[in-house]
Amino acid sequence: MDLTIPPEAEALRQAMRSFLRDQLPPELAEATLYGRKLTKDDHQRWQRILEKQGWLAPSWPTQWGGTGWGPLERFIWDEESALAGAPRANIPSLDLLGPVIVEFGTEAQKRELLPRILSGEDWWCQGFSEPQAGSDLAALQMRAVRDGDDYIVNGTKLWTSWAHMANKIFCLVRTSADGPKQAGISFLLIDMEQPGVTISPILTLGGMHAVNEVQITDVRVPVANLLGQEGDAWTITKFLLGHERLVGAGIGPSMALSRQLRGALGRIGPGGAPLGDDPVLAQRVAEVETDLLALRYTAYRVLADELSGKAPGPEVSVLKIRGGEVQQALTELLMEVGEIVSLTHPLTVSEGVVPIESAYMAQQHFDRRKLTIYGGSSEIQRNIIARRLLNV
Ligand SMILES: Cc1cc2nc3c(=O)[nH]c(=O)nc-3n(C[C@H](O)[C@H](O)[C@H](O)COP(=O)(O)OP(=O)(O)OC[C@H]3O[C@@H](n4cnc5c(N)ncnc54)[C@H](O)[C@@H]3O)c2cc1C
Repeated sequence: MDLTIPPEAEALRQAMRSFLRDQLPPELAEATLYGRKLTKDDHQRWQRILEKQGWLAPSWPTQWGGTGWGPLERFIWDEESALAGAPRANIPSLDLLGPVIVEFGTEAQKRELLPRILSGEDWWCQGFSEPQAGSDLAALQMRAVRDGDDYIVNGTKLWTSWAHMANKIFCLVRTSADGPKQAGISFLLIDMEQPGVTISPILTLGGMHAVNEVQITDVRVPVANLLGQEGDAWTITKFLLGHERLVGAGIGPSMALSRQLRGALGRIGPGGAPLGDDPVLAQRVAEVETDLLALRYTAYRVLADELSGKAPGPEVSVLKIRGGEVQQALTELLMEVGEIVSLTHPLTVSEGVVPIESAYMAQQHFDRRKLTIYGGSSEIQRNIIARRLLNV
């Protein structure tokens, strides 16, 4: 297996670095790297810069305004943009729904919907999970009943990221209760700016508003908004979830945190010596950095397989579990290094009093608990590893 990065990809990495250095507004980078809140305007500002560069949609083909990059180029872009602190919102539109429309949409759907994503007119959110349907996604209950040229939709979606910033939601809905439970599910595109759609915020452990509950009551959705065939959403869902694969490992964000941790170790501690001189702390940092390096190489192995045409296997589950754990370990160490200042409330402390990587660290630490839950919890990933990798 060849794990070397070809020179063309390395050259692209350098081009990405220069672009990010010259074009990424420093205040957006700082907010992203250190966990400050970003508004929809902030995200859209960055998206306009990316759109101008032609790099807004790394997982789309050039025909539809994407970069046409392969998995390696996309991986490098994820690493470089996370390291530079580029904001990353609108994932449901760009990384999930976009490729699905390209693959399963009609020509009319492609022509109408893809440009609206690139222009920022449409912000989509992902309506899959429901109160009794998370890990067991096929247990979903949201009903879509055909009435002439419309479906009438009723039900509740839960944990919907970005719903408060989005104007559209793509939902898995039950169009039939007959047969196996995966069989009667359809993929429906719903406009959120209409009566009958209610969005309620859910605040998470880190004190953030990123997820929501979305209630849909007697909402009429044209049959033209069906993506793929009625009852065929399971195939689409598997394709869509496949697109989350390597991003789930969060290697770029971990590299950014690791860099912050290195910076913090150089600070002089209460004993008058650099914090990194503490041998116990130094060993723990070395351990987490080794884990990160191992994770990066595992990701390269998955990439090498993918580039040689082999479908990614259960090792992706290893990446998902370890990726979340490494990020959690890094924020834990940053919390410890920051000591009491990591617990300050960022809004109550004057600028410059607290080192920037500590200012929002408690919030970031708690927020990262979510990593081992969303996108398939660690328990579910372990089931996959047990069945498919260990054959137990
Ligand atoms: C921050 C965040 C953002 C999210 N964003 C979105 C979004 O935008 N759109 C969306 O549709 N969803 C989203 N989700 C939902 C996410 O995908 C689900 O939380 C996840 O699939 C787990 O489902 P659940 O929360 O219903 O837990 P459950 O499935 O009820 O699981 C509860 C616990 O039981 C364990 N468990 C369940 N089944 C098994 C099993 N068979 N074997 C062993 N253990 C098991 C789980 O691992 C977990 O620990 C988000 C979640 C979070 C936390």
